[in-house]
Amino acid sequence: MDTHISFGLSAEQKAWQERVRDFVDRRVRPEAHVRERIQDPHERHPWDWVEELSGWGLRTATVPKALGGLGFGVLDCCVIGEELGAGDLGLAVIFDQTWKLTPWLTDMTSEAQRAQFLPEFLRDHRYLLALGLSEPDSGSDNFLPYGRLGDGVKTTAVTTVRDGRQGWLLNGVKAPISNGGSAGMYVIMARAGAEGAETTWLTPFLVPRDTPGFTVEFIYDKSGQRLAHNGHLVLRDCWVPEENRAASHPGSARSARPPPRRAARRRRQRVSVRPTLCVSADAVAFAIARSGNPRPQAAGILPRREARHDEDPSSAQ
Ligand SMILES: Cc1cc2nc3c(=O)[nH]c(=O)nc-3n(C[C@H](O)[C@H](O)[C@H](O)COP(=O)(O)OP(=O)(O)OC[C@H]3O[C@@H](n4cnc5c(N)ncnc54)[C@H](O)[C@@H]3O)c2cc1C
Repeated sequence: MDTHISFGLSAEQKAWQERVRDFVDRRVRPEAHVRERIQDPHERHPWDWVEELSGWGLRTATVPKALGGLGFGVLDCCVIGEELGAGDLGLAVIFDQTWKLTPWLTDMTSEAQRAQFLPEFLRDHRYLLALGLSEPDSGSDNFLPYGRLGDGVKTTAVTTVRDGRQGWLLNGVKAPISNGGSAGMYVIMARAGAEGAETTWLTPFLVPRDTPGFTVEFIYDKSGQRLAHNGHLVLRDCWVPEENRAASHPGSARSARPPPRRAARRRRQRVSVRPTLCVSADAVAFAIARSGNPRPQAAGILPRREARHDEDPSSAQ
């Protein structure tokens, strides 16, 4: 039995790679450098390419097959993203932001949320996704376990009843958000509690673009990835119903609200570690499925350290 793991691409991945490479060579590469000089960001956005690739199923590629997508995994996205990026990095960003946020409309939603949001996402070839986590005053520190108010994410979410409906009032600024000027749906991370560590309360909300109180104030003028928008988003008394509160991580139907101390610590760990675990779990499952071997062998992959001739082997630790 062959016990080696194959790192080659499947026939299906190769077919997608060739198809996208051909598109990029014919359509994107000859034109991208001209388009990126267009000053108006809305004119610059490559909707025609997005629509054509979306027609092939690529915009919604990470939607599971059972829900109407192509069921792409991490490696599939890497292969296609690499081809798109070879033509224009902005075009690759437009797609990979949407791919990575799709679980918020599929696995990380309740059935009611899926029924509400997924059909339009599948149907509308211009429906892109964006994540609003960073703010003008917070970036890589967003997941540090600060113990006091005012550090990390400052956007607030306050429970508010409107017209008899339970919901959340969002206030804050998000920047510089990829797909910020072009998305149909924004995942907005907000602090849903007033006291204690920011990470205890970090909660995602699904905010459709046309929600009153939500505005894209401007698009940043960048020197790279110019075909993708980076937006400056403002939420001013932006109310969303309770149904728009999303899950924090894959596997949880929806995030619990005020987690007790220990749970908060575990959740904080999940928020930062879980995406990495998911990627590595996918990779191991993929390797096992491809090789038929339940225990992938690393020994054959990792080079052994050879003693150099000028080293004294007896001194090796
Ligand atoms: C092109 C682009 C697209 C983006 N798209 C999105 C998006 O779609 N959604 C979104 O939410 N955000 C987005 N961002 C924001 C991005 O996630 C942040 O810029 C990033 O997290 C870094 O944060 P910052 O810019 O505030 O830098 P800071 O966190 O302020 O870091 C500044 C400097 O301090 C250093 N530093 C940071 N923390 C520490 C530490 N703890 N110890 C020592 N040194 C430290 C860093 O290495 C860096 O040199 C985007 C940014 C860019 C440029």
